[in-house]
Amino acid sequence: MTLDPRLEPIYTKVVERNAGEAEFHQAVSEVFDSLSVVVGKRPEYLDHGVIERLCEPERQIIFRVPWVDDNGDVQVNRGFRVEFSSVLGPYKGGLRFHPSVYLGIVKFLGFEQIFKNALTGLPIGGGKGGSDFDPKGRSDGEVMRFCQSFMTELHRHIGEYTDVPAGDIGVGGREVGFLFGQYKRITNRYESGVLTGKGIGWGGSQVRTEATGYGTVYFANEMLATRGEGLDGKRVVVSGSGNVAIYAIEKAQQLGATVIACSDSSGYVVDEQGLDLARLQEIKEVRRGRISEYTQQGGQSRHVTDGSIWDVPCDVALPCATQNELDEQAALTLINNGCGIVAEGANMPATPEAIRAFGGSRVLFAPGKAANAGGVATSALEMQQNASRDSWSFEHTEDRLASIMTGIHARCAETAEEFGAPGDYVLGANVSSFLQVADAMIALGVI
Ligand code: NDP
Repeated sequence: MTLDPRLEPIYTKVVERNAGEAEFHQAVSEVFDSLSVVVGKRPEYLDHGVIERLCEPERQIIFRVPWVDDNGDVQVNRGFRVEFSSVLGPYKGGLRFHPSVYLGIVKFLGFEQIFKNALTGLPIGGGKGGSDFDPKGRSDGEVMRFCQSFMTELHRHIGEYTDVPAGDIGVGGREVGFLFGQYKRITNRYESGVLTGKGIGWGGSQVRTEATGYGTVYFANEMLATRGEGLDGKRVVVSGSGNVAIYAIEKAQQLGATVIACSDSSGYVVDEQGLDLARLQEIKEVRRGRISEYTQQGGQSRHVTDGSIWDVPCDVALPCATQNELDEQAALTLINNGCGIVAEGANMPATPEAIRAFGGSRVLFAPGKAANAGGVATSALEMQQNASRDSWSFEHTEDRLASIMTGIHARCAETAEEFGAPGDYVLGANVSSFLQVADAMIALGVI
């Protein structure tokens, strides 16, 4: 990829200053790739050092997380919180617990989060955190002790007006509960707005669990509508089988699609009749089991452990598992099989080469910072409810989510059109969110 000569030296410096953080470099270069049209028209962003400042987190915290496992042995993990940008509001972004977590992953996610949060139009800045702790195979007691130790350090850095974490891979309702409990205990404050993704009975919002998956499907439906189509009757493939994937499957089915495949890190299942969501939820949400168990309960489905889920022909592809899970080869297979829409439910699941392949085809491609923004948008709605000591109905909250997603789609599509690239959602998302963040940075001075 060749970057604009005005942006190239800034990118080179980012790579030098953040050596070995490949995912962070990837996220920065993807945004820079869209910005040449902006710096051409508005050189003042270069004069104010806006782009250099945006690439340097406001604060980065790395800490030890010691805890005792069920055998009485001491375990030591590493915790992270990267507070990237608070120009639009308190830092906001999830926590990821997965063995692959290191500073480069947290920074890529935090950087993306700045732009995603801006796209929602709600007053939230960008941040992200997590740990290399692997909750898989750990008892509830071990997960609780880990979360308590993690929060014992993190609590001094967060707050409803400062930094508001939430869930991500490996962090769901159970973990948010343990984290919130420890925060409350240490601070002696029932500060609901300090974490989102809470349980409905103790300050959570309706639709937060469903929001990222639902929002991704709303976005895909808006993309289809630009071609005069809808999800009804479409064949859909969803990767992953976690929080985002399950609720993307549910909403796609509600809108009349047949979802024929989903996956986890040990393979994928194909069910040509359409996945049985209740069976999937029982395996994944209730028992925390493996996707292979789906085929053990009868029917015509099959479990595949070689190749890629993207080999399954479909009209709509929703990557909802993890970063870089959809490479160029997978993109070419999807294109050749007649896929028309790819919307990212996960963060950065398509590689740069895959995105370029989509760009040269009839596939409409939506980046995660736009398509999966429904999760953080609903987190911001949870913060609104907490601040006003209120609790909204499912229907009202879902209506708000749907209209936010329609708004994000319109904003991306209009910006792409305005900058001479109709249908380019990557450019539309990057440019429109950058302009909002950059203008606020100039207004607030060099801080
Ligand atoms: P979960 O932990 O609930 O689920 C992750 C799923 O992805 C699991 O099924 C996991 O399988 C699967 N997976 C992980 N690695 C791979 C792999 N290499 N190949 C195939 N499957 C894999 O996480 P979420 O659903 O919350 O998050 C998924 C993605 O969505 C992430 O990129 C996250 O950052 C993004 N996201 C999440 C939001 C949210 O609200 N939760 C908001 C916005 C974005 P296994 O169990 O085998 O590891």
